[in-house]
Amino acid sequence: MNKITNHMPTAELQAIDAAHHMHPFTANDELAKHGARVITRADGVTLTDSEGEQILDAMAGLWCVNIGYGRDELAEVAARQMKELPYYNTFFMSTHVPAIALAQKLAELAPGDLNHVFFASGGSEANDTNIRLVRRYWDLMGKPDKKVIISRKNAYHGTSMGSASLGGMQGMHAQGGMPIPDIVHIGQPYWYLEGGDMSPEEFGLMRARELEQKIDELGEGRVAAFIAEPIQGAGGVIIPPDSYWPEVRRICAERDILFIADEVITGFGRTGEWFGSQHYDLSPDIMTVAKGLSSGYAPIGGSLVSDKVAAVIGREEFTHGYTYSGHPVAAAVALENLRILEEERIVDHVRDEAAPYLAEKWHQLADHPFVGETTIVGMMASLALTADKSVRKPFKASPGTVGYMTRERCFGNNLIMRHVADRMIVAPPLVMTKSDIDTLFERAVKSLDEAY
Ligand code: PLP
Repeated sequence: MNKITNHMPTAELQAIDAAHHMHPFTANDELAKHGARVITRADGVTLTDSEGEQILDAMAGLWCVNIGYGRDELAEVAARQMKELPYYNTFFMSTHVPAIALAQKLAELAPGDLNHVFFASGGSEANDTNIRLVRRYWDLMGKPDKKVIISRKNAYHGTSMGSASLGGMQGMHAQGGMPIPDIVHIGQPYWYLEGGDMSPEEFGLMRARELEQKIDELGEGRVAAFIAEPIQGAGGVIIPPDSYWPEVRRICAERDILFIADEVITGFGRTGEWFGSQHYDLSPDIMTVAKGLSSGYAPIGGSLVSDKVAAVIGREEFTHGYTYSGHPVAAAVALENLRILEEERIVDHVRDEAAPYLAEKWHQLADHPFVGETTIVGMMASLALTADKSVRKPFKASPGTVGYMTRERCFGNNLIMRHVADRMIVAPPLVMTKSDIDTLFERAVKSLDEAY
């Protein structure tokens, strides 16, 4: 059998890939027909493929490569840690220095009293942990009937049975008996498509109050928690109206429920603050983190837990954990990533420089005849492709057709932009310069012009 290398002809790599590799969120038959693009290298904000094409990655991989590609420091830390202690677990009464140091650093960076961390390998596992944490909390509080977790339609919280059930993606629920029991979904604060004649502010309040109505309908004695992304990411970068979060905050404060902020995308600088909870002044009891925690250089995630919840959970053995909880190499890489974010003042760069410039350019795209709203917070932005923007009318083609076409044009023009139905999304590496943003804008305009 041939050794597979970067130097093999692309078609050969694609054929072997299609024959043996089942891709996430992909119809494998399509791979056999068209072949996947083979990415061979990356540096800064640019990917290189097997044909030598240079592609601007305006999605930071999967919203995760916050510090950009090709940082040698992380590779060096990983190699050093692998030689010193490649693996040990943190079960029972063992621990190790990378996990200790990362837990302390996260407690320092996280808002409020989120001073404790339960490590996982990514966001899905961390959200599974959260389901168990909140139910266990209420058991230990003597309220075992409080089991229901309220989430939102079109939310994305991962792909395991638990986390996909927390998520509100119809297409995922349809493929495997989800949601699991005791998870319910309320509406999302998506004014552009669902707001009708209401003002954004009225609509935001209405959607926030669905939480209160759902708690009343179920009975407060049955509700364990509300989970939400500060900004829905994979759902289409749905930036809520300004009225939404203050009202949710009021409801959570008045009701005896826990609030889980899923910051897998919004964490580690994406919004121009360290965490989206700071952008919206939220005080979660539990926060999910992953992705930007290591900038994607190693698989790691976790649940940041408040003093209040940790004190109760700590009373007895919590029968939960993953082989790779706090993996020493991933933890060391994450710690080095946080050092870079901090020392290079990357969050300040987002807030003061990159995000305002990206916003200026992004809003110019609204001049295009088929672009309805353009929205952005920090370095996450979306736009609605719209048949008639005067009345926010979607295209007649089945949802996603137009978005898919646009994404393909972007891909052809060496720009990675993602689509969710007919919304186009970017979430670039946070280290983007103004000149990178100019390139992004030029390629986006060209792609939109070619698509319509
Ligand atoms: N939560 C949110 C908000 C996400 O966007 C994602 C992934 O995109 C997840 C959870 C799941 O994370 P992972 O893919 O690391 O399991």
